[in-house]
Amino acid sequence: MLLPSTRCLMIVALFASCTPLHSGAGLERRTPTYARVKAYLDAVPAIDTHDHLVPFDRLVTREDRGGGMNLYQLWHRSYYPWFNPLTERKPNQPCETWWAVAKGDFVNARATSFYRYQLPAIRDLYGIDFDRITDAQAYELDRRITENYRNPKWLYEVITERANIELMLVDPFWAHLDHRPDYPFAVLVLNVDPLVRGFHSSEFPNPHDDPYKFAREQGLRVESLDDYLILIDRLIAGAKSRGAVALKQVLAYVRTLEFRRVARQRAVQVFGRPREELKPEEVRDFEDFLMWQLVELAAKHDLPIQIHTGNARIQGSNPMLLVDLIEANPKTKFILFHGGFPWVDETAVIVMRHGSHVWLDSVWLPTLSYSMAKRAFHVWLEAMPSDRILWGGDCLHPEGVYGATEFTRRCLAEVLAEKVDRGDLNEEHALGIGRQILRDNALALFPQLKDRLWKHKGRLPLPTSSTSQAAAAP
Ligand SMILES: [Zn+2]
Repeated sequence: MLLPSTRCLMIVALFASCTPLHSGAGLERRTPTYARVKAYLDAVPAIDTHDHLVPFDRLVTREDRGGGMNLYQLWHRSYYPWFNPLTERKPNQPCETWWAVAKGDFVNARATSFYRYQLPAIRDLYGIDFDRITDAQAYELDRRITENYRNPKWLYEVITERANIELMLVDPFWAHLDHRPDYPFAVLVLNVDPLVRGFHSSEFPNPHDDPYKFAREQGLRVESLDDYLILIDRLIAGAKSRGAVALKQVLAYVRTLEFRRVARQRAVQVFGRPREELKPEEVRDFEDFLMWQLVELAAKHDLPIQIHTGNARIQGSNPMLLVDLIEANPKTKFILFHGGFPWVDETAVIVMRHGSHVWLDSVWLPTLSYSMAKRAFHVWLEAMPSDRILWGGDCLHPEGVYGATEFTRRCLAEVLAEKVDRGDLNEEHALGIGRQILRDNALALFPQLKDRLWKHKGRLPLPTSSTSQAAAAP
């Protein structure tokens, strides 16, 4: 089913007549060009630059919120409830009594991308059209989901075979600083959010986020700002030595993306004092100073930094607020996440101005709004070089990853086919661009990944235990 990277594009014609990876309603209504492009993109082993795929044992045991994976959890642990209702299912509550109420929840969500992105998974992996699901199908779907999660092989099958993902960069928000990949296809990313608030050790009630714990383990004394900067330098070096390929920053959910260039002395004055002794401006001074330090360390360690932009707090999450930081740090590789949604045009102009060291990651964008993602791909491909665009799923569970992946392949195929049919792009070039976005651009930006590629060797080693997964690299 998989195309080796060197296989001639002529094989695409063959694929158009084969069973597509993602069969389903709607394809027959699309153009022949779309069908060829989509079949080609389905066959590209993708490099997913961002997901939050949780450890398997956390997927199957969630007693506090209705138990392990089932139909309720499929929606509960998705983006759907961000603004849509979802009736809670109590632990051990039968599907029948929950579904009797919950089936009415979806009325106003039918057209939303936060609802629709999961439908390809339900359709392709379970053969059910959720838009028209019957009560009997809902009970059966619920039972089959739970059954699938009795064995981690399901996760591997969905991610690496059905979604055709070869490697996945994982941001483990449940343990930012643990540096432990949970799957053989997972690639570490160091989330640096905890580090910007390291002015005092009392900031870290969670040991998995605590840089001072790392300092104790390493025998490092942290009594001054200089000591702290040495600590985070070591922490980043350590993460890189354990396989991390990027830094990640998600501060747009809690503060503005405007990071001012703050004098070192102001950060010195803040360091070592607990938050209750500090004014909000002083906390921000420290965070701003640390962000500039982290951006410099990203260049020093040659680790690109992924930055969440756009939809978050909204006040202060416009990617244009990063331009001063970007302009002043030309040696740092910046990756603007989510294409800046809804500011997808702003991110394009940032790349037009600073494209030598800025990439746009479309991660999550088709899930936020399929139409805006289509428009963004159209605009970006017209306004900037095609080697600047990446993609990712941004989901917690395999069905979500599958849906987000299928949404991206479909969106990209529509954009490329439209350009081909309009006469604005040669089809062979369109396929090459699709391959760049799904795979080649990530391999160029994170060259360490080339040593982790495994599909050309055959199968990924599967775990032997039925309840946990091996952490060994493939
Ligand atoms: Zn994310």
